[in-house]
Amino acid sequence: MKTVKLFDKDSFLSEFEAVVLSSEKSDEFYKIILDKTCFFPEAGGQVSDIGRLGDGGVFDVQIENDEIVHYCKSGFTAGEKVSGKIDFKRRFSLMQNHSGEHIVSGIIHKKFGFDNVGFHLNEELVTFDFNGLFSKEQLAEIEYLANKAIWENRDITAFYPAKEQLKTVNYRSKKEIDGDLRLVKIDGVDICACCAPHVKSTGQVGLIKFLATEKMRGGTRIYMKCGEYALKEFVAEHRNAADISNALSVKKEEIFQGVLSLKEALDKEKQNTALLKKRLISLLAEQIREDVRFVEDLSMPQLQKLCDLLYKKDGKTHTVFSENENGGYSLVISGIPDEVDSIFEKAKKSLEIKGGGRNGMISCLVTASKEDILKEFSN
Ligand SMILES: [Zn+2]
Repeated sequence: MKTVKLFDKDSFLSEFEAVVLSSEKSDEFYKIILDKTCFFPEAGGQVSDIGRLGDGGVFDVQIENDEIVHYCKSGFTAGEKVSGKIDFKRRFSLMQNHSGEHIVSGIIHKKFGFDNVGFHLNEELVTFDFNGLFSKEQLAEIEYLANKAIWENRDITAFYPAKEQLKTVNYRSKKEIDGDLRLVKIDGVDICACCAPHVKSTGQVGLIKFLATEKMRGGTRIYMKCGEYALKEFVAEHRNAADISNALSVKKEEIFQGVLSLKEALDKEKQNTALLKKRLISLLAEQIREDVRFVEDLSMPQLQKLCDLLYKKDGKTHTVFSENENGGYSLVISGIPDEVDSIFEKAKKSLEIKGGGRNGMISCLVTASKEDILKEFSN
């Protein structure tokens, strides 16, 4: 690789001057290689830095043929000097997330012997997988220990150990790596092979919060936020909890119980309503004499039940309909099979009506006004 990685030595350097080694037009953008760069390319599950080169926006950085390639909106001339600036707010979040990932993976490895077997990391969220399962209590303990490591503000350093030194260092991610191996050490917590920029001490991670976990191929996937994004998550959830507490008129600590009580009351009400609807359908069946009738607030199955009762009562064909939640109407034609079919066939010619059925009952959805439906089926 021709490019000197400035992010390797100083992860907090955000501006730099470089010489353009090559600038190649490709579609709507340019692929730029520099003699040195602060831009960390997409690597090992972490998205790249973005920022500016000269006046042009850098929207992606990739390693291609062992070179760091900047995808830039502007082109340059080989040999030209150019100033670069990364979006450091985003970089800092990426570093918080990456160092947070090492803290958690290190704790899990030490305590449970499980390995981090894959991860994806962007500015806002870390998603990582472990080859083992955890109980709720164990996850809570890991999260606590990770935050404790933050409060202890332990040093984070990156170094290239000599071959001899490597034999004596116990580190994670022991893959065969070509070239020099870079280790990232979090004092007392973890040592791991890694090429990415990190914050300088665990305190700079700020906060670690697990959002969710799920079982994946016999292991566990953890969704985690760090730093500012973890705080934003807390603020949003805190506001939600306060709003629910106000809406339910219960103390914030008791909102879960409040929601359960509300759900229980709602279930009871639903049972009551179902019972009342059943009675209403029986009463309607006794009352209705017309061929066509609009009824309020009945679902399709309830309309079908009403039709059953009407046919049992007088053996005639009836059409009943009710407004549905989509603003249209649910409609059931039921009674003598031949009559039902001919009423439906006639209605299809003048109304927007979809439906089907057999044995003397057709259930339909109609898009038309109540008046037009009454007019059509009264004829
Ligand atoms: Zn790493």
